[in-house]
Amino acid sequence: MTETKKPTAPQSAEILPLRAPRRCANCSKETVRAFYPFCSKRCKDVDLHRWLSGAYAIPVVERDAGNDEDE
Ligand SMILES: [Zn+2]
Repeated sequence: MTETKKPTAPQSAEILPLRAPRRCANCSKETVRAFYPFCSKRCKDVDLHRWLSGAYAIPVVERDAGNDEDE
C-alpha cells in the first residue's frame, strides 16, 4: 500500500481582501481593521473626543429673562 492521498484542494489564484482599503476618517491614512474606520487608536480617540465635545456643545441661547429690553 504505497498510495497516498494527496489533498487536491483547488488553489485560488489570489486571496482577495474582504473590503477595499479605506482611508482614515481623521487623517486619510490607510485604515487598520482593529481601529476601523481609522488608522490608529489615536485617530479613533481624536474622533471620539471630537464627537463627544460636539455632542456636549449644545448651543445655548442665553436669554436674560429679567433684563430690560429697549422696546
Ligand atoms: Zn488616522
